Amino acid sequence: MLDYDLHCHSNVSDGLLPPAELMVRAAGRGVKYIALTDHDDIRGLAEAAKVASEHDMGFINGVEISVTWRSHTLHIVGLNIDPANAALQAGLHSVREGRGNRAMLMSESLARSGIGGALEGAYKFAANKEIIGRTHFARFLVENGHAKDVRSVFKNFLVKGKPGFVPHQWANLTDAINWITGSGGIAVLAHPGRYTSGKKPMGRKTLRELLAEFVELGGRGIEVVTGSHTPEQYAEFAHYATEFGLFASCGSDFHGPGESYRDLGRLPDLPLECRPIWQAWETTH
Ligand code: AMP
Ligand code: MN
Ligand code: MN
Ligand code: MN
Repeated sequence: MLDYDLHCHSNVSDGLLPPAELMVRAAGRGVKYIALTDHDDIRGLAEAAKVASEHDMGFINGVEISVTWRSHTLHIVGLNIDPANAALQAGLHSVREGRGNRAMLMSESLARSGIGGALEGAYKFAANKEIIGRTHFARFLVENGHAKDVRSVFKNFLVKGKPGFVPHQWANLTDAINWITGSGGIAVLAHPGRYTSGKKPMGRKTLRELLAEFVELGGRGIEVVTGSHTPEQYAEFAHYATEFGLFASCGSDFHGPGESYRDLGRLPDLPLECRPIWQAWETTH
């Protein structure tokens, strides 16, 4: 078991717990180093850092930025970013701006399928109105009996070809990496095993093109052990990390009790061939 968890969400984005409670839970589950990586927002970091230090955890400032690359939505995690950096703040603000209108369109799409009241219903679950997103709609759909849990919502709703799906233009990859590295952070490709082309996993050729471009633009890490990867995928992405000279990261991607693949902290070790991402900042301090 690793004592690093470098990917999780508070209710500043689409997690269920406020940053302070999330840190207390992590400490209680044996985490020694934690990064909070809310979607497109860093306003939970100060509170989380304070509580983490009260519980003797090392705290890493993080964020998970939504990106559109070709036809794909990707998530780029920034670790060790500087939350006071103006360009990063402005960049994240610009990414957040699109979410309100997207939510309206999602609600209209659900209404056309006979599901009314989704906009209001989703906002009820969003502690931070600026990060309204699919998870909040998913909670609304579960609450109203349209699915048994959040995970199964994403089989019948909110994904391509299903009610509630709205295509969206997020940040471009270059900008997202520049915001992260420009603030002193390290850019990490999040959960690479989750990206798809239609219903199929992203093809190897496309993935290689993505990784080459990511490295070229200054990306330095890839998540190898993450809540949604299988053990086979740990091995697969450890190989890609080695091939592309990337540091390997690990994180639960925890969103809330009972809602996630994995709880905080409980992660298998990185494969032996990996260079753990924390070496990237331990050696510079
Ligand atoms: P958004 O940024 O609004 O498009 O929402 C993306 C979020 O939806 C992700 O960060 C996850 O929290 C959630 N999500 C996407 N796909 C799934 C899935 N298959 N199962 C559970 N949650 C998902
Ligand atoms: Mn999420
Ligand atoms: Mn993600
Ligand atoms: Mn995440």
